[in-house]
Amino acid sequence: MNRMSRLALLLLAPLCLLLPIAVSAQAPRPMKQSAVALVEKQRADLIRLSEEIWGFAEVGLEETQSAEVLARYAESKGFTVQRGVAGISTAFVASYGSGRPIIGIMGEFDALPGISQKAVPTREALHAGEAGHGCGHNLFGAASLGAAVAIKEMIAAGTLKGTVRFYGTPAEESVGGKIYMIREGLFKDVDVALAWHPDDKTTVDNLGAQAIVQFMVEFHGRTAHAAADPWNARSASDAAEAFTHGINLLREHVRPTVRMHYTVERAGDVPNVVPDYARVHTWVRDSRRPGVDTVFARVREIARGAALIAGVEQTVTVQTGSSDMIILDRGLKLLHDNLSWIGAPTYTEAEQTFARTLQANTGQLQVGMRAELAPLAPILPDPPGGSTDVGDVSYVVPTLHFYGATAPFGVPWHAWPVVASSGMSIGHKGMMMAANTLAATAVDVFADEALRMALRAEFAEKTKGVTYHWLIPDGPPVVKRD
Ligand SMILES: [Zn+2]
Repeated sequence: MNRMSRLALLLLAPLCLLLPIAVSAQAPRPMKQSAVALVEKQRADLIRLSEEIWGFAEVGLEETQSAEVLARYAESKGFTVQRGVAGISTAFVASYGSGRPIIGIMGEFDALPGISQKAVPTREALHAGEAGHGCGHNLFGAASLGAAVAIKEMIAAGTLKGTVRFYGTPAEESVGGKIYMIREGLFKDVDVALAWHPDDKTTVDNLGAQAIVQFMVEFHGRTAHAAADPWNARSASDAAEAFTHGINLLREHVRPTVRMHYTVERAGDVPNVVPDYARVHTWVRDSRRPGVDTVFARVREIARGAALIAGVEQTVTVQTGSSDMIILDRGLKLLHDNLSWIGAPTYTEAEQTFARTLQANTGQLQVGMRAELAPLAPILPDPPGGSTDVGDVSYVVPTLHFYGATAPFGVPWHAWPVVASSGMSIGHKGMMMAANTLAATAVDVFADEALRMALRAEFAEKTKGVTYHWLIPDGPPVVKRD
């Protein structure tokens, strides 16, 4: 929806209230128009929040300021905020209302290391070597909270009944904060959870996400002078080499949907000292969790074999792992209807030039912004490459998820072009589209009990016989750095 039609809609909204309520399986349109008006009222605040978080650019578990500005905004709007939940100082839940239904809206706010960038379409670091919002999570958190605030106003006015919660979910890019929040039981009474994600296009999430396990393989050997008495040494770096070689041999014998990647984080310091310690950070993904479990079992054996070859000890430590996504057809239809109703933003010539310059600078076709809604398509049997801890939430509560265009079509993700567009009006427009869609969808879910029951029934059907188990170590999350 462009600015003019939105303006017309806001002017017409009071008239609509006088009209008979349309027969619909979802909430009457005027209620959703009110929700959109309440989001639009916050436009300046949401842009400010997203810009502050963009500027902080804090990585997972260190998003202190980012979490705080969101939590404070929620408090200023009348929410009760529980900070530092699930043993994570930057995780929080903001809640308003009482009783059922309980609708949760998730927001992320962590940045990615090393991709600092100014909000300009050519490569130029804001603070060289530092973090940047290359996944648009500054927009993610602000949009989701804006939608939660709109719903809160409607509960306060007596238009909707129940509880709205904003889940401030940290460290999506590293340990998966949502998984810790699930383990803490924070989602267990939620009727429906909503989330979106920034993207280079607008579509409901019929794609899903890959299941993943992230683990550290460590080798401990015995050091010695590499020239004087190497026969006394047992090289941890030899074991790391054998391990990565083993993985690369395995690569031919896994299903095409499997992804395995690693970085050798430590393997000695200087050539004349045989390293007694090596560490390989390894990730394994597949379309579904059982596929990951099968490959992970083989990779564990490879680590054992590599240690035998080099005569060293080995340990494999799971750090985290997220689930694939349970997608609900009824949820896709609902999101698609609302995205279609809200409509794609329109862009100025300056914004299109910004987009085309980013595309030119990254070797992409210069097609500008592609924010129009993709047609509703069936759920894919195998997701494209990528994982998210929203997948875990989708295993414990019916979860609705979509993508909103916040960056030019085709530009590399987790990279500087996304940092650039997340810090300017292209990102802001996508954020507002997402906030409006979340708010409209939440109104439907609040107001229509039959819809909630349909979502829950499909969720029950799709999780029948499946026991969800989290893949995180005991205790609070720790990121290994040295
Ligand atoms: Zn992301």
